[in-house]
Amino acid sequence: MTYKLFIPGPVAVSEKTLRAMTRPMIGHRSNDFVALYRSLQPELQALFGTRDPVFLGTSSAWGVMEGVLRNVVRRKVLCCMNGAFSDKWLDVACRCGLDAAPLQFAWGQPVDPAALRAELAKGGYDAVTLIHNETSCGCMSDLPALAAVLREFQDVLSIVDTVSSFSAIPLQKDALGLDIIIAGSQKALALPPGLTLCTASARTLARAATVAGRGYYFDLLEFQKNHEAGMTPSTPVIPLIYALESKLGDIRAEGLEARYARHARLNRTVRDWGHARGFTLFPKKDYGSVTLNCFANTRGVDLVALNKALKQQHGFVIDGGYGPLKGKTFRISNMGDETDETIAALLNALDAVLVDLGVK
Ligand SMILES: *Cc1c(COP(=O)(O)O)cnc(C)c1O
Repeated sequence: MTYKLFIPGPVAVSEKTLRAMTRPMIGHRSNDFVALYRSLQPELQALFGTRDPVFLGTSSAWGVMEGVLRNVVRRKVLCCMNGAFSDKWLDVACRCGLDAAPLQFAWGQPVDPAALRAELAKGGYDAVTLIHNETSCGCMSDLPALAAVLREFQDVLSIVDTVSSFSAIPLQKDALGLDIIIAGSQKALALPPGLTLCTASARTLARAATVAGRGYYFDLLEFQKNHEAGMTPSTPVIPLIYALESKLGDIRAEGLEARYARHARLNRTVRDWGHARGFTLFPKKDYGSVTLNCFANTRGVDLVALNKALKQQHGFVIDGGYGPLKGKTFRISNMGDETDETIAALLNALDAVLVDLGVK
């Protein structure tokens, strides 16, 4: 049975993207690859808002997220935590044997700039991890406000995860003075999983050069050296790079502003639908994500039954809550290629299922 995903990653992949992946292989040291790699840089840099290189890592986002920690942390990393993915970053840092400390907020609360400043002012830190869009609870922190705080601490490198917001809202890495930004392929870019984009500032690379034990596969200096030759350190996932090329073409055709506006509009459509049916948003007011809505299950819906009926009768799948929020929240993605029509079809189906379950 085929069905369509409206979960916040992986999201549905278009036929056009899937077809792009079926092109014949090219050698990753060939001129054709170098031309392909270099052709992607300007548009990727525009999406990140940077003049720094954009490295292509073959792994899911966590590979690069872990790798950058091992590249830049010499003293101690502060992990801003407000949901499952950001909480995990502390765990990953500890597993790497690094000195790490939490800056913990309740799930659904944004990272507080004043609290970040107060903690960094204590000293001892040389890196911070931060998630822009905490997908597990649909909470989007105020990146410009946090970046302003980070700029006050010149010795502290910022490592920012935009895995589930990248390309859906404007991002200005250089203007914000951010050091490292990481994005995955299977969220707002609507590619299959397995490719990670990472951009790193010159001072990040300078720091990495002083850090021992960077390893090989995720060594940023290897990425930089190969980038200069239009290549990746090891054989990359070439089909996903074809898919990325195809997607950048889609983005060009739609226009960046139109793309950002579409995500904002579809997000609001879903939010209004939920509010009209008596559901409240789980994250703090004004900090709801623009790429998904995480609703509190305020009507006490049997979410397992809802998803089962939605899938069997309508061919759609939403998320019934992440980890400890299972059954207590549900998440609907508006990432990637969704349109007014596809979102309307989902919401109509959800209405029909809610009636069947006696909820509406
Ligand atoms: C999905 C997600 C990740 C994890 O990405 P993987 O591709 O599974 O490694 C990390 N951070 C955020 C914010 C995410 O949404």
